Amino acid sequence: MTDRPTLAELVDPPFADRHVGPRPAELERMLAAIGAGSLEELGERALPPSIRDSAPVPTSIPEAASETEMLAELRELADRNTVTVPMIGLGYSGTVTPPVIRRHVLENPAWYTAYTPYQPEISQGRLEALLAFQTMVADLTALPIAGASLLDEATAAAEAMTLLRRAGRAKSARFVVDADTLPQTLDVLRTRAEPLGIELVVADLAEGLPEGELFGALLSYPGASGRVRDLRAVVEEVHTRGGLVAVAADLLALTVLTPPGELGADAAVGTTQRFGVPLGFGGPHAGYLSVRQEFARQLPGRLVGVSRDADGNPALRLALQTREQHIRREKATSNICTAQVLLAVVAACYAVYHGPSGLTRIARRTHRFASLLAEGLRAGGVEVVHADFFDTVVARVPDADAVADAAHAAGIAVRRISADTLGLSCSELTTVAHLEALFTAFGVTASVAELDAATDDALPAALRRESEFLTHPTFHEHRSETALMRWLRRLADADLALDRTMIPLGSCTMKLNATAEMEPITWPEFADLHPFAPAADAAGTLEMISRLERWLAELTGYAAVSVQPNAGSQGELAGLLAIAAYHRSRGESERTVCLIPSSAHGTNAASAVMAGMRVVVVGTDALGNVDLDDLRAKIDSHRDTLAALMITYPSTHGVYETDVRLVCEAVHEAGGQVYVDGANLNALVGLSRPGAFGGDVSHLNLHKTFCIPHGGGGPGVGPVAVAEHLAEFLPGRGTVGAVSAAPHGSPGVLPISWAYIRMMGVDGLRRATLTAVAAANYVAARLGEHYPVLYAGAEGLVAHECILDLRGITKESGVTVDDVAKRLADYGLHAPTMSFPVAGTLMVEPTESEDLAEIDRFVDAMIGIREEIRRVQAGEWPVEDNPLRGAPHTAASLVDKWDHPYSRDIAAYPNGLTPGVHDRKVWPPVRRIDQAHGDRNLVCSCPPIEAYSS
Ligand SMILES: *Cc1c(COP(=O)(O)O)cnc(C)c1O
Repeated sequence: MTDRPTLAELVDPPFADRHVGPRPAELERMLAAIGAGSLEELGERALPPSIRDSAPVPTSIPEAASETEMLAELRELADRNTVTVPMIGLGYSGTVTPPVIRRHVLENPAWYTAYTPYQPEISQGRLEALLAFQTMVADLTALPIAGASLLDEATAAAEAMTLLRRAGRAKSARFVVDADTLPQTLDVLRTRAEPLGIELVVADLAEGLPEGELFGALLSYPGASGRVRDLRAVVEEVHTRGGLVAVAADLLALTVLTPPGELGADAAVGTTQRFGVPLGFGGPHAGYLSVRQEFARQLPGRLVGVSRDADGNPALRLALQTREQHIRREKATSNICTAQVLLAVVAACYAVYHGPSGLTRIARRTHRFASLLAEGLRAGGVEVVHADFFDTVVARVPDADAVADAAHAAGIAVRRISADTLGLSCSELTTVAHLEALFTAFGVTASVAELDAATDDALPAALRRESEFLTHPTFHEHRSETALMRWLRRLADADLALDRTMIPLGSCTMKLNATAEMEPITWPEFADLHPFAPAADAAGTLEMISRLERWLAELTGYAAVSVQPNAGSQGELAGLLAIAAYHRSRGESERTVCLIPSSAHGTNAASAVMAGMRVVVVGTDALGNVDLDDLRAKIDSHRDTLAALMITYPSTHGVYETDVRLVCEAVHEAGGQVYVDGANLNALVGLSRPGAFGGDVSHLNLHKTFCIPHGGGGPGVGPVAVAEHLAEFLPGRGTVGAVSAAPHGSPGVLPISWAYIRMMGVDGLRRATLTAVAAANYVAARLGEHYPVLYAGAEGLVAHECILDLRGITKESGVTVDDVAKRLADYGLHAPTMSFPVAGTLMVEPTESEDLAEIDRFVDAMIGIREEIRRVQAGEWPVEDNPLRGAPHTAASLVDKWDHPYSRDIAAYPNGLTPGVHDRKVWPPVRRIDQAHGDRNLVCSCPPIEAYSS
């Protein structure tokens, strides 16, 4: 009886024990290596007292819940939602995510935990899927260059607008938008046009182009009303007047309609949501943008291209403007960084699985239902507004609300356009039963079978698509489930994601994305909500969003939060627009200068320009901190025009700057506002709040600190958090327009962050932060003697990441950061962030989720690599031919003739082979990729199969 445990001793361990990697004994070893007695002591020493919260901060965040408890609470919220058949349209359609794609992509960590493919040799799988995405968009729109996704349709339209302005020759600042454009697209266009001095002219282009000059136009195809028009005449007229044309087009409709490229358009934009991506109450979904060949170099966002590897084999990588904001900063064409890769992969898989014939069948079926619906209504005496449409029927009735209510009672949500007009959008989900229910709601009697026998299609004859699309074998070879499953597995096996290795990417916070956090995102109650569903139908999701916004506000020390921005970059834009609006509201519209430290993330400068600000760069001192003297000088010379300072905290150098309060005070004293880039919040949560140490506004990256997986380059959520005086300037709340298409951005993935906070509680979050700081300092302590750690704060400690300086080593040995990054792939590891924020360095962020064994595996690999560098330095291996320069090594490269001065063993098994132990070797599928070759010979869609045999 005596050694019997009590119930209290047997409670579930907290979720934080699962989220945090190091076991207690491991943590002790890590702290010993750093020379700290405890996590708390480490925090005391690492964080400057000036930023620390002296007393616990009261929050509404409850005590940590277990996984089971959290899931029960989310289930309860989910049950408060009412899912209806979505016939609202407005750019969001019902769709079926094929279960094989849901399970093998959307719910598969091999796909969702991957990072943006900046290390292409270990990212060939997602690059191949993205190439299929680009090919799909290019083929369907008949415009040859398509990027690897944008954030949504509305922001894609805004990107197209600025692209046409850059690419065209017209001097005019006028951009004409057809009145039949999605309202949310118009809203975002207004937000984005205003600070850039673009004059938007909204006009009904069915009546002809308005008089006057213009640099471009946006047309919709079909329009927001569902009407399909022949755009050729307008396109020609715009061209005649020296402008360029973008067409917002429905990709599914383009399987049966003449594509924009064949109508003469210069660019096409839209969403790929209806290609199998759940509605999610607005997102995340992949937007697309495709352009004519000559605009390839103007394309914002990422573009996947074909190149070749060191052995001459075809290999994929990001082409041209990769990381362009980092290089071009305030001259960047766009601020987009994180995009929507995971959703682009889903959409591409949908096209691969259905193939051109399957997509055409789905389109025809969708159109057929719409045609029968229109005819049934007409026959029943209801006025149908447009004769030519693809999927949307607009009907006029005496009392639209009464009909909409009746439809809703039957489980169908329709669009209430006005007091007497309704929109009814068909989709892949539409059934005969839905049509019958709608007829009843309209008080019409009709037989769908009889209508089917007697009704013609409603597509204009002159706009039938004749050209082929998706002819590439990729869209024909994976049509059985077995074939698709194996294709997906083959692609995933080519990539290194978090399910195989730590991804120590500084500034990116590649931490655990727990299964319990991920599960709810595919629950139908969350996944199948239309963004414009009646609020009562989304009660549970709205409650979840408002709690999450409150928690985030409390954790950051701000008054209000909006989750609308779809990535950090969009949060930056929203925050800066809030600042600009604030100054304007006080009659200080001359305040337009934005101070940005030279070490800032490239998106900062690009966002400032998009917000209509002028960037003035502030230097950093020898320690990597903002140079206070330079800051004061810059403030002095721009005192009357100072709008804001953008500062990242902890700095992009991974250091807690001691003087951040002084910095904030100096800016405030001059009448400026302080923007604290919160991408590095993983070093602050639970310890310090930017809103409390001087920030007026911050964006957070839920896909970094708050566990939304990176998805191979998106989705992201970049909430913007503001102090009280800026709350009225949050996006879409009146003064400042929307920055995303959907009112709440990407609610589909918000349960992840909600679940994380709910299961960690404030104590767990604080523990995560301190553990992340311990992990970074452990790496710095162990690697410091092999690679200089570039910056450290007071007490010689770093924050949650550390920069390893290879510049001296490169100078002495000729071995570059590239060589080290690629060599890590031979060790089965993902490289750290390369050359950001300092060229020639590696920035390591282990996060709190990695256990000591994995961190040591990385550290040991880096030490092994340092030894290899020494052998190069000693002349044992030539600079041009050694295991580093030759990295990564494929299996094929070893079985051929071998004429290198190092052995095959060293090439492939740098750690040595351990007999009898399961072989953890990960074989990179390609060797080092030739970037320049790909940029010179730009190929951005699936190359013909023959290309692979040469
Ligand atoms: C990641 C990051 C951003 C941009 O966030 P996205 O979601 O990729 O747009 C901005 N600033 C810093 C410091 C970052 O690390």
